[in-house]
Amino acid sequence: MTVSSYNPYENAQAQFDRVARIIGLDQATCALLRQPMREFHFTIPVHMDDGSTKIFNGYRIQHNDARGPAKGGIRFHPHETADTVRALSMWMTWKCSVVDIPLGGGKGGIVCDPRNMTENEQERLCRGWIRQLAKVVGPVIDVPAPDVMSNSKHMLWMLDEFETIHGGRYPGFITGKPVGMGGSLGRTEATGYGVIYTVREALKDLGLKLEETTASFQGFGNVAQYAAVLFQRLGGKVISVCCWDNNDKKAYTYRKLDGLNAEALLTIVDSFGTINKEKALEMGCEILPQGAWIEQDVDILIPAALENQITLDNVNKISKQVKLIAEGANGPINTDADEVIRERGVFLVPDFLCNAGGVTCSYFEQVQSNNNYYWEKDEVLQKLDQKMTSAYRATKETADKNKLYMRDAAYVIAINRVAQAVKMRGWV
Ligand code: NAD
Repeated sequence: MTVSSYNPYENAQAQFDRVARIIGLDQATCALLRQPMREFHFTIPVHMDDGSTKIFNGYRIQHNDARGPAKGGIRFHPHETADTVRALSMWMTWKCSVVDIPLGGGKGGIVCDPRNMTENEQERLCRGWIRQLAKVVGPVIDVPAPDVMSNSKHMLWMLDEFETIHGGRYPGFITGKPVGMGGSLGRTEATGYGVIYTVREALKDLGLKLEETTASFQGFGNVAQYAAVLFQRLGGKVISVCCWDNNDKKAYTYRKLDGLNAEALLTIVDSFGTINKEKALEMGCEILPQGAWIEQDVDILIPAALENQITLDNVNKISKQVKLIAEGANGPINTDADEVIRERGVFLVPDFLCNAGGVTCSYFEQVQSNNNYYWEKDEVLQKLDQKMTSAYRATKETADKNKLYMRDAAYVIAINRVAQAVKMRGWV
């Protein structure tokens, strides 16, 4: 499959169909869950600073809300498509379900490039997105959050517009708000730490001591940074990280065979997750081509950059030493490569379990916002560890009991819970 022919929605449906067959899901439930229950496609006119008016295309897709209000981020991307949003909304349903939080799945998007827009234009765009959706989202209906290229400032503008329309204060309407304005402590670390909580548990199952293991990462943005830091704090050795360099329009792998210092790397990375090459050289890193991250003789691979990164083109370059792959990113392994990994018997922590720490902490933010009472960071992280660990344990138990690949086991749990909810509500 080439990158251009990759369709995330088809991928999400193929994964669903496979598990629906395993659990013998009835035809009606299948038909209900293999597509979103509700979609909003709309235009957002924005007065630009130069006096012109530009029309942007926006989406909100609610895949399923049987277990609770829909939950999911809003992506700002020039190549955003309805199919990407559909797939992501579906994955959100499974993600919330597998970690057993009372939320459904949704996702939003705007076809735009905020890097080429002024702050004022971005604010008008955010407010415009809310004006189109104010009646069909909300703290008990659908709770948005930031995603690719959207941030806490955007969330606060959106909250302000929502509250202006509805005439009240509804901090639980949206998550990813700044700390002090309804945001939760620990959210920045949550996804990366969550990845490592699952890695820690998987290593126990593999009979390996974390402090004797090595890892290679793809990506050094929010997820990979905090995953690398916690992995190192727990005694693991980070051998390499790969990240994009926007000046050179290609990615590089930064490697140190005796272990990179993840905390030091945090001081030389920009807000887009690009490591400064010169400073990395000064720190004694080797700079290798972008594909090198996958070829390292390490125990653990953590793809935490983008979707569709491990394919038939590079899956066989994975070293025989690799025992565990923890999918920090969403959909980093395509379906064909997944077959190869499954056959090779490499242990996998699948994306919607592995990176569920972010949405779990967003759920904590929503709970805190709705109660207007905020927790200490330690409390947030302790609750996060508990949720991630028990979700991992339940998945491993299902995998062992039914002799399933971990991805299938996580799907079995997630789909069964949602199927049960739609049945109990009498929808099917
Ligand atoms: P980010 O934008 O902060 O970082 C992305 C990193 O990937 C950067 O270091 C960038 O340089 C690197 N990258 C981009 N293109 C690359 C390429 N072609 N080769 C190698 N490296 C490349 O993003 P993030 O928030 O860390 O998210 C990473 C992944 O995790 C995404 O798939 C995202 O959907 C998923 N995810 C994120 C969260 C979260 O809370 N941030 C939660 C769940 C899932």
